[in-house]
Amino acid sequence: MSDDDIYTDALHAGQEPDPATGSRAPPIYQTTSYVFDDDEHAAELFALEGEPMSYADAYTGKNIYSRIMNPTTMMLENRLAKLEGGIGCMTTASGMSSLDLATFLLAESGDNIVTASALYGGTYTYFTHTASRRGIDTRFVDTLDYEGYEEAIDEDTAYLHAETIGNPALVTPDLERLADIAHDNGVPLFLDNTFATPYLCNPFDYGADLIWHSTTKWIHGSGSTIGGALVDAGGSPWDEWGYEEIAEDNPAYHGVNFAERFGDAAFTFAARARGLRDLGNQQSPFDGWATLQKLESLPLRLQRHSDNAMAVAEYLEAHPAVAWVNYPGLESHETHDNASEYLDNGYGGMITFGLAAGYEAGKRVCRETELASLVANVGDAKTLIIHPASTTHQQLTDEEQQASGVTDDLVRLSVGLEGTQDIIDDLDQAIETAS
Ligand SMILES: *Cc1c(COP(=O)(O)O)cnc(C)c1O
Repeated sequence: MSDDDIYTDALHAGQEPDPATGSRAPPIYQTTSYVFDDDEHAAELFALEGEPMSYADAYTGKNIYSRIMNPTTMMLENRLAKLEGGIGCMTTASGMSSLDLATFLLAESGDNIVTASALYGGTYTYFTHTASRRGIDTRFVDTLDYEGYEEAIDEDTAYLHAETIGNPALVTPDLERLADIAHDNGVPLFLDNTFATPYLCNPFDYGADLIWHSTTKWIHGSGSTIGGALVDAGGSPWDEWGYEEIAEDNPAYHGVNFAERFGDAAFTFAARARGLRDLGNQQSPFDGWATLQKLESLPLRLQRHSDNAMAVAEYLEAHPAVAWVNYPGLESHETHDNASEYLDNGYGGMITFGLAAGYEAGKRVCRETELASLVANVGDAKTLIIHPASTTHQQLTDEEQQASGVTDDLVRLSVGLEGTQDIIDDLDQAIETAS
């Protein structure tokens, strides 16, 4: 996507003036249900006839019930699908519920998930303690160990998973290589694109099949609204790969075979008619509306987040009290080359670093910042800081902390949109006191 297209699509994709009222802004359709023309019309919609829930049209007049589809959230879904270059999108109540929606469709008891080990803490716990309760085993592979992925995948693997900018070391794996490994073994590549957003990375260009987002983070960007999105590239060979929920006669939907019926959009239709319908984890119309407002300025914000973070990373790298800095934009970063290949426009808003004085100093620096807030969130317009070992990751065992890359001294910084020098000055006084 060219830079200009994303500025236009962030404002216009998926939305037209409201056909009923002419409203230029997206209306909030706060309704549970929709009046059918008559009983035959109702029967057709339930039979998925006439392509209801079309991803191409938010105003289909073919809506059934807001657990399955809603015109406000569908505008957001259509916009995100366009920004990612996908065929369809489902927005969900949170990022975690998008992960769960995909897992529900792709994996059943006895299957396994193969994932990069550089992961958001909540994703790690979902795999180890939630998917496991449903009989789904997870195999963690060192994020850059491509042979390790090959070895871990077997005939029961449901999907290969990784983050485009992985927590907490901010590593970017070779995405094309991951896609090849997945496809050679007949499984989809499923990527968490939260830290990059579609402004920095379009994983479908590199072979990914599915993408998920915590829209809670940069896509909304003001720290007011929890949400998630699951985006479908379209056209993955679900039939050939043997995914029964998608490509066999589905007894849960009176025998519909989504692959036969909906072709390239099979996953999207299955995720909506099977997943959202039975899991009930859809996004609310109000939250969808709030996220649509903020998505309009995504390109402007992500550019500024990236520019500010680059300046802060360079400042930290030059500071004598700082032992190490992880920022994908620095040449010293372990996957700077992959990041430069797969990310456009910049390297995102996240930095991790360690102070030479270690654990206590890491805790202290978070207490001493005034502009940066001590918060368990990232991707806010305001700068945020946290010391994971004593907070978000405190419940993990030492081995689990080690495996997830959270060292004792690690400080996580989500660089906001404030004045660049103000962010640096704030860190400067905090580091001085803490060291
Ligand atoms: C926050 C986050 C999630 C989980 O999203 P929620 O909206 O909090 O459920 C998943 N992945 C990454 C990378 C995140 O930062």
